[in-house]
Amino acid sequence: MTVLASGSKGNATVIAAGSTRILVDAGMSCRELMKRMAQVGEDPEDLDAILITHEHLDHVAGLSVLARRLKIPVFFTEGTHRAWVRMLTPRTTMTYAKWLDTVQREKEARADHAPAHTALMTEIDPDAADDPMEAEAAEPCAVAEAESPKVKADPAFLPAVEYFRAGHGFSIGEIDVNPFTIPHDAADPCGFVFHARSESIRMAIATDLGYVPPNVKMALRGVDVLLLESNHDLEMLKDGPYPWSVKQRVLSRVGHLSNAACAEFLLRDYDGGAHTIVLGHLSEQNNLPELAKLAAEQAIGGRMTLLGNRVVLAVQDSPLEPICL
Ligand SMILES: [Zn+2]
Ligand SMILES: [Zn+2]
Repeated sequence: MTVLASGSKGNATVIAAGSTRILVDAGMSCRELMKRMAQVGEDPEDLDAILITHEHLDHVAGLSVLARRLKIPVFFTEGTHRAWVRMLTPRTTMTYAKWLDTVQREKEARADHAPAHTALMTEIDPDAADDPMEAEAAEPCAVAEAESPKVKADPAFLPAVEYFRAGHGFSIGEIDVNPFTIPHDAADPCGFVFHARSESIRMAIATDLGYVPPNVKMALRGVDVLLLESNHDLEMLKDGPYPWSVKQRVLSRVGHLSNAACAEFLLRDYDGGAHTIVLGHLSEQNNLPELAKLAAEQAIGGRMTLLGNRVVLAVQDSPLEPICL
């Protein structure tokens, strides 16, 4: 497992076993994701698939550009895919005067044999200049796609989409994937357990969850590497700068996991069998790495050994060293 980035400004993790490589989430620009993969010695061209946990921007910001560039399939739940497509579809509301004007231009464009619908799409997207997709067109990641009519017509175009459902396992190459439902305010959010068949190694990702329900406790049994959310310190969040409504959202049952809730899981429900526990999705405003680490280490207590229960912190600004078993 290699965590490329973790936090509210972007999430991405590479899961690799044998010759199979999966990117879980693509929450940074295509260029940044490729840069970070290069930093840890991973070749983006070796990726077999991208798996998406949920449609929040910090998990999908670079998704379309990266998937189109690498021409690899993207795995979603149907609910997450639909929500993501809705998010990318340009607004189609306009004033009557503007509509008349657009129709007139379309007529003229047709007369000139120009692709009319392309003109229309550009016309009705007032936010195009601020759109990260458009901004990214200037980057090397998207040289070819700026001219692609497919992308102009459908910003959610992907080379291939595969659907999975929580509770139903599937395989990508040498890795078995078991998605499980997590409580979070997105359309159909999931965590994953990955089983590298040949090495009998299990890795899990569980971030962006308001609490740890029984199905997640079950899923996280017997894992060797666990990326678990330790989002905020409760006191820091309560006293911190967020507006009250945002504090309520983070604290809710479909928000984010606090240091205390993470520690509670490690103390009461965790089986103590992991080689490494990675604490992730730490809030930059409402947490301190030392607080998250201390809470987790205290919860694990006497179970920390040379060979097991190592606690490391994933960060936002740089990739973690690959965790290899
Ligand atoms: Zn997130
Ligand atoms: Zn989220």
